[in-house]
Amino acid sequence: MNQPAARRPDQPSPAPPASLERALARMTELGLPPLPEALPQPTIDSHTHLDAVRENSGLDPEDALALAAAVGVDRLVQVGCDEADSVWAAEFAAGHPQVVAAVALHPNEVARHPERVAAGLARIERLAQGGGPVRAIGETGLDYFRTTDPQAQARQRAAFAAHIELAAAYGLTLVVHDREAHLDVLDRLAQGPRLERIVMHCFSGDAELARLCAERGYWISFPGPLTYKANAGLRQALAEAPPELILVETDAPYLTPVPARGRPNSTYLVPHTVRFLAEQRGWDLDYACQRLTANTVAAFGGDWGRGADNGPRPGPTAPSPAWSGSDPAPGHTLDPTATIPASPGNDRTPDRPPSPAAPNPAWPGNDPASDRTPGSAAPDTAWPGSSPAPDRPLDPTTGRAPAVPADWERTDV
Ligand SMILES: [Zn+2]
Repeated sequence: MNQPAARRPDQPSPAPPASLERALARMTELGLPPLPEALPQPTIDSHTHLDAVRENSGLDPEDALALAAAVGVDRLVQVGCDEADSVWAAEFAAGHPQVVAAVALHPNEVARHPERVAAGLARIERLAQGGGPVRAIGETGLDYFRTTDPQAQARQRAAFAAHIELAAAYGLTLVVHDREAHLDVLDRLAQGPRLERIVMHCFSGDAELARLCAERGYWISFPGPLTYKANAGLRQALAEAPPELILVETDAPYLTPVPARGRPNSTYLVPHTVRFLAEQRGWDLDYACQRLTANTVAAFGGDWGRGADNGPRPGPTAPSPAWSGSDPAPGHTLDPTATIPASPGNDRTPDRPPSPAAPNPAWPGNDPASDRTPGSAAPDTAWPGSSPAPDRPLDPTTGRAPAVPADWERTDV
C-alpha cells in the first residue's frame, strides 16, 4: 500500500486547488479588487447575486465561490430578482451545498413589467413548493426611489403582499427590499400573515427604523455602505441593532465596501464589511464571524453546507445560539454546544403598527448608495474609494443595470 509521504517542514506548502488558482488568475485578468485578508472564522454572505456578478464583471460563479472560500466566506445566499434569476438561483443552489436560494420578483421588476407578474408569481410559487435549497422568498418589497409612478408603486404593494403570502404558506424566510419606503414596508409586514423569519436586506434606515425592526424581531442586514463616511445614520442603526439580529451582506455586484469602493463587488469582499462592523461594535473578529454566522443560519431557517443539507427547513425559527442582549466582553466566543432558549429578540409576533410618534416622516437617514454630503460634490480623500455616486440609469432594453456600468454604487437590487 502506498501511503502518502508526510510533508517535511522544509517543503513548500501544497499548491492551492486548481479552482482557486484559476479564480485568482481570473480576478487579476478582469482587474477586480484584490483578496482581503482572510477572516479567522467562516462567515456567510447573507445576500448576493452571483449571476449579476458574472454579467457585470465577468467573474464566473464558480470562481466567485472559490475566491470567497479562500477568505473564509464559505457560504452564501443567492438571491433572484425575476423569474429567470430565481430559477437560476434554485438550480445553482441545488448543485452547491454551500448555497441556499431566495426567489422572487423584485419590486422594480414588478413596476417595469406588469404583464409578467402573474406568470412570474406562479413560477415563484412552484419554486417555493419544490423544496430543495429554496429557503427564502425575496427579494421583494417596495422601492419608491426607483419607482415614483403611483400606479407602479401600487403594483409593488400588491406583489409584496403576494410574496408575503407565499413566505407564510411555505414557511420560508422573507427577504425584504426597502428603498425609501420604510413606513409602507413596516405597515405591509404588520398587516400580513405572521411570518417566521424576516430579513431587512441592505438596511438603509436609521437608528429609529432599526429599533422598530428589532422590536418585531426582524434581522437587519448591513451592506458595504456601512463603511461609507457619509452614512453615520447607518452606523447608528448598527449600534442600535441587537447582536443576534445583525447580518452582513455584499448585494454584489453593487455597493462595494471601502477600500474597494467604486469597483465591482463580489462575495469575497465581505470581509471588509465584517471587519468594519466588528470594529464599530467593539467585537473581537472571531466573535463577529461566529455571531454573524449563527445569526444568518437562524435567519434562513437552519444550517446548510459543511456537511449539512441545504434543503428546506420548514417550521419555527431556530433560536440564535448564546443570545445575549448586549455585546460580549472582549475575547468572548460562542459556545457551539450551548442550548439557549428563544431570545426575546426572536419573537416574530407581528405586534403593534408603527408608532405614530416614533418615525420621522422624512426618514432622512441613509441612502445606501450615496456617500454624498449635501451641498458638496467633492470626493472625500480621507475615505479611500469614496466619490460622489451619480445615478446609473437602467438599460432600457433589458431593464437591468448596464453590463459594464461606469459606476458600481447605484443599484436597484
Ligand atoms: Zn439584492
